[in-house]
Amino acid sequence: MTISRKKIERIIRPEVRGLSAYHVPDSGAMIKLDAMENPYRWPDWLVEEWLGQLRRVSLNRYPDAAASALKARMRSAMGIPEQAAVVLGNGSDELIQMIIQAVAGPGRVVMAPEPGFVMYRQIATVAGLDYAAVPLQADYSLDRDVMIEALDEHRPAVVFLAYPNNPTGNLFDPEVVRAVLARAPGLVVVDEAYAPFTDETFMGELQVCDNLLVLRTLSKMGFAGLRLGLLAGAPDWLNEIEKTRLPYNISSLNQSTGEFALAHREVFEAQAASIRQDRADLYAGLQALTALTVYPSAANFILFRVPAGQAGAVHAGLKESGVLIKNLDGSAPALCDCLRVTVGRPQENAAFLSALATLL
Ligand SMILES: *Cc1c(COP(=O)(O)O)cnc(C)c1O
Repeated sequence: MTISRKKIERIIRPEVRGLSAYHVPDSGAMIKLDAMENPYRWPDWLVEEWLGQLRRVSLNRYPDAAASALKARMRSAMGIPEQAAVVLGNGSDELIQMIIQAVAGPGRVVMAPEPGFVMYRQIATVAGLDYAAVPLQADYSLDRDVMIEALDEHRPAVVFLAYPNNPTGNLFDPEVVRAVLARAPGLVVVDEAYAPFTDETFMGELQVCDNLLVLRTLSKMGFAGLRLGLLAGAPDWLNEIEKTRLPYNISSLNQSTGEFALAHREVFEAQAASIRQDRADLYAGLQALTALTVYPSAANFILFRVPAGQAGAVHAGLKESGVLIKNLDGSAPALCDCLRVTVGRPQENAAFLSALATLL
């Protein structure tokens, strides 16, 4: 059955028709270095214990709507200040959606630096808000004057700053972030999706900054399949955002698994520590390939630029060698000739580097 174009145009909003759905390529049996996943599975003894705990979950009952036990675990694992409130999401993507729904309205603006995380624009557009992309400098740093000018011009209801930034991997100058917090007329969300791979955080500043919200996720530390994110901030803000949350957004299985995983967080912290070490090795390996420009990273991925016009061929060549990374060429002017590789296991990184060397 096909629906006429005319009918679709009458019913579906033009902003939505203009979007593309978030595309996830099929990775098959390839070495998967495209999605910032933790490459390590759980040890067998941990899987056995986890299954034992899951057996006790009552699936006939609705989940604990407040997810109190899980929240308590997440608060201590993430160092949430006592005075801050938290809201949980089905991944931090859902929290971005809740924040945007809470501020949505005609003429309202969402602002974020570009290149940046694509979901900010996607969700703002679906919610019918205007989106202001503020260009980063050539080295992907955030310029204070450019940001201040953009804030004064657009008066955004909310600004998103990914810290470290995706897809560039760098941390913005914290003084510039503070200048944004001081000047912004609305909320500033510092998105710390890559917190496990850096020592820098704005969590402590929740105590002194009343328009700051801090976003975290368990995805990049090893639970991308779980879908669990957390938003922390002043109770007065979060009480409002909480109203946009569907009551049972965190399933009983997720709550139980999240509690279990965080009770064993030393296992995953050790994995994050070795990923940080492997990032340094991968960075050195990329830098040794002199045809590349390699950008410093505080996350679990590295952005690099290949000689002009070669990104597509390099990406395809890697795929032929069984390695899947992300091609960012064409996604934003500042990302031309750029590719992004996730830090994998040492053998995977080595396979990637040797395949790449033959393609340059
Ligand atoms: C991956 C990512 C997220 C989304 O993570 P979830 O899996 O939805 O928790 C949010 N922000 C940034 C910057 C990311 O890179």
